[in-house]
Amino acid sequence: MSTSVEQIKEKLSIEDVIGSYIKLERAGNSLKARCPFHNEKTPSFFVSPDRGGYYCFGCGVKGDIFTFVQEFEGIDFVGALKILADRAGVQLEKISPKVADKKERLYYLLEITTEFLEKNLQNEEIPLDYLKKRGLTEKTIKDWRIGYVRNEWRTIYDHLKSKGFLDEEMERAGVIKTEGQNTYDRFRGRIMFPLFDSAGRVIAFSGRIMPAFDDGKAGKYLNSPQTEIFDKSKTLYGFDRAKLSIRKLDFSVLVEGQMDIIMSHQAGFTNTVASSGTALTAEHLKLLKRISNRIIMSFDSDNAGAKAAERGWALALASGMEVKVAAIPKGFDPADLILKSKEEFKEVLKNAVHIIDFLLERVYQENTDERKIGIAIKNKVLPYLSLIDSNIEKSHYVSKISGRTGIKEEAIWDDLKKVKLDEDYISRSTGSGQAKEESVEKTVDKLPKGSAERSLASIIALEESRKVKVLDPSLVREKVKNILKSDEYDLLDENIKKMSGELAFEAESYYGDLDEVKFNKELDYILLNLQEDIFKKELDDLMLELKKAEHAKENDKAISILQRCNEISKKLHQIKTDRNKIKL
Ligand SMILES: [Zn+2]
Repeated sequence: MSTSVEQIKEKLSIEDVIGSYIKLERAGNSLKARCPFHNEKTPSFFVSPDRGGYYCFGCGVKGDIFTFVQEFEGIDFVGALKILADRAGVQLEKISPKVADKKERLYYLLEITTEFLEKNLQNEEIPLDYLKKRGLTEKTIKDWRIGYVRNEWRTIYDHLKSKGFLDEEMERAGVIKTEGQNTYDRFRGRIMFPLFDSAGRVIAFSGRIMPAFDDGKAGKYLNSPQTEIFDKSKTLYGFDRAKLSIRKLDFSVLVEGQMDIIMSHQAGFTNTVASSGTALTAEHLKLLKRISNRIIMSFDSDNAGAKAAERGWALALASGMEVKVAAIPKGFDPADLILKSKEEFKEVLKNAVHIIDFLLERVYQENTDERKIGIAIKNKVLPYLSLIDSNIEKSHYVSKISGRTGIKEEAIWDDLKKVKLDEDYISRSTGSGQAKEESVEKTVDKLPKGSAERSLASIIALEESRKVKVLDPSLVREKVKNILKSDEYDLLDENIKKMSGELAFEAESYYGDLDEVKFNKELDYILLNLQEDIFKKELDDLMLELKKAEHAKENDKAISILQRCNEISKKLHQIKTDRNKIKL
């Protein structure tokens, strides 16, 4: 019987899986795309349907459908397995909670907690009424698995204890707190919103305090702490539900709170996500940007946390996204506005404007004095404009600002160059990709492109990785081994191991279509080239030695070197003749 992984691989083609996330184009035997894992303008991300793998020549990422979903959705292997199993209609074997590993136990614990809290809510009139008053339907409450925890010290604790969980596990899952000898529930008297990972598993909670228990001391919202399975800087509330819609509509909408996003989805704005109580991070944006480069960020006009919003805009611009701002009318947040009128919220989204236009407008609203407008533009608009990568777009806005203010374009360009970027924003959004690229470059040097050695290494890598083989890779290895010295062969072998993904793709693009006869001819040809390279190198070395010998007047040595040179010349001549006989 095949494993779940094998069954999934049989049912889903890599072309369909990756193609459902990013747009793929045909490129010979493989498919290519702009890499979703690093910033690039020309495609260097290749997918091989034959071999079920992908490789990026730009940043070196490689793998199969499982690693792709893991990387793309920012999730662990089991999460990717769940997503793909659902898609393939493969039933995963239930892991017994007793034998599950430690991490799996935490997912299981949070699932049990969620079920418990959902049931609690159904028996509590006050919180149910509260949610309904805010506009949530029963279906929405069920869909989002909203729950309730009574204002007592140990309801969750006692329930989990009765299910056999240990204190230590509850603490690691972030549902209880321990102070000295006392252990108690972290969340009390709160409406509980589970946070999901992109596979839909509960990984944390956000609890909204019931107005009746709000003494002003505890925050209105309380979130789970960071745990092994919950990293708030990488989790977007609603991402699991919004991702398909974001791809389809090709833009995401970012709101702030739980109620905002749930109401948005209920009203049909299903491409909405929320950063949920934490500041937006570059990691959040990476998740969104992989699916769509366009984002509308909602902005509450009477928002006290305007600084956080501004930082979010800068981050999004710095990560290369196309950013629009949707200003919510004063006195409302998205949830209230939708409750009042779905249509009005729709209008607000429709009227979202490019971030630079938004900022420019704001400067004019806040200032009347011409001189002050000039200063405000320099301080409050240009820093954002400087984050935009495209010069075409930049000059569009420079001339727009110039037209409106009467400031000369040149002066604006000058100021733009002087604007100090907040380095924090930039390093966070562009950090890792470049480092990866460099490390790939270095390994490439060992096998120069176009060399016979590299071609042979790539053929070996191709045949060792593809299911239906045209040449026997161990035979190819044997032939190469006969030509190279043993330490040279070992080095080649090491490089094949290190660069197998890249090499296989290279070979596939050159030799992927060849049948056995043609491929064998190609192989013989390259083997002759390899021999030629080696003899030529030896010849070069001998020439140096000959010079030395002549200089030292070592006649006998010079003669024997010349003999060897003669032999090599004959061999090189033979290689040429043999090569000419091969009709490719
Ligand atoms: Zn890449």
